Amino acid sequence: MTVDSAPCVSIVVPVFNESGGLDAFAGEVQAVMEPIGLLYEVVFVDDGSADDTWQRIDQIAQARPKFRGIRLSRNFGKEAALSAGLQSARGDAVIVIDGDLQHPPSLIPKMIAIWQSGEVDIVEAVKEHRGHESTLSRWRAQAFYEVLRMMSGFDLQGMSDFKLLDRKVVREWSKLEERNRFFRGMVAWLGFRRARLPFVVQDRAHGESAWSTWRLVWLAVVAITSFSTLPLHFSTAAGLVFAATAVLLGAQTFHVWLTGEAVAGFTTVILLLLIIGSAVLLSVGVIGEYVARIYHEVKRRPPYVVSDSAGRGLPENYGGDLRSTPQVAPVKTIEPSPPAVS
Ligand code: UDP
Ligand code: MG
Repeated sequence: MTVDSAPCVSIVVPVFNESGGLDAFAGEVQAVMEPIGLLYEVVFVDDGSADDTWQRIDQIAQARPKFRGIRLSRNFGKEAALSAGLQSARGDAVIVIDGDLQHPPSLIPKMIAIWQSGEVDIVEAVKEHRGHESTLSRWRAQAFYEVLRMMSGFDLQGMSDFKLLDRKVVREWSKLEERNRFFRGMVAWLGFRRARLPFVVQDRAHGESAWSTWRLVWLAVVAITSFSTLPLHFSTAAGLVFAATAVLLGAQTFHVWLTGEAVAGFTTVILLLLIIGSAVLLSVGVIGEYVARIYHEVKRRPPYVVSDSAGRGLPENYGGDLRSTPQVAPVKTIEPSPPAVS
C-alpha cells in the first residue's frame, strides 16, 4: 500500500454471456463499495460473449462513472479474461470476483478491511460449502483438486478465484510469463502473506455455468502439466516396472521351454500386448501433453487480444504501479560516432 495518497481498489470481473445478471451485479457492488468511501473502479472483462453482454457493460459504464469495461476479441477462457483484467487494473489492491453473483460482493468490505490492516498481501475467499450443487459436480470438483494436490503438491481444495491481491502481488504475478494460465495455482505458487475468509457459494441467479466436465478435465490437464512434471516420471517408473516384469516373465518362459513343455497361453499374450500397448500409448500421450505445452509457450502469442474498451474507471495515471514507481529521469544515450572512413 502506498502512503502518499488514499488507497484505491480495482474490482476485476470476467464475464461471459452474463448479460441477464450484470445490472444486478453492478448495483450490488456499488451498494457495498460506496459506504467504504475508498476510491475504486470496477473493470468488466467481456470474454467474447455471444449475447449482448458488451452492450450492457457499455450502458453500465456510461451510467456509472466508476465502472468500465474491456472487451476481448473472442472467447479466450476465464483464465485469459482474468489476466486481461489484472493487467488493466489500476488499484493498489485488485479484487477478482465472478460476475454471476456466486461470489457474494458483501464480502468485499471485509476483504478490504483485512488488507488495510497491512498484515496480509492476499485475502482469499474460501468456499465453505458449495451452495446447492449437485453431487456429481461436487465429486468432479473434489476429484480435480485431489489429482492436482497429488501431482503438484498445492492443495487448492475450497480455493476460489475470489481474491484480493495487493499491488505488489499483482506486480509479481504479471512477471510470470507463461501463456497457459491457472490463476489459483499461480497465486498459490507466489506465496506472500495470506488471510482466508470463508464464504458460501451462492446459486447462479442467471444463465448457466460454462464448465462442462470436459472443460474441467482439460483444466486439470493444463493445471497438472503446468505445475508438475510428475506424470513424466510416472512413465519412467512404469517403464522400469514393465522391464523388471519382462525379465522375470522371460526367465520363467525360458525355463518352461527348457523343460520341454510348450508355452500355453494365447490369452496371456493378448493381455500382455493390450496392457503394454496402452501403457506405451499413455506414456507417449503424457509426453505429447508436455510437448504441446512447450509448443504453445514458445510461440509466445499473447494470452488474449483486446478489441474494445468502455468507460473510464480510475484515472489512468492514478493508481498502482504508476503512482508508486518513482519517476526516474530518462537516461540519455550517446550515439556512437560512425567509424572513420579512410
Ligand atoms: N467466464 C469467462 N469466460 C469463460 C467462462 C466463464 O469469463 O469462458 C466467467 C463467467 O462469466 C463468470 C466466471 O467466469 O463470471 C465464472 O464462470 P462460471 O460461473 O461459468 O463458473 P463456475 O461458477 O461454475 O465455476
Ligand atoms: Mg459461477
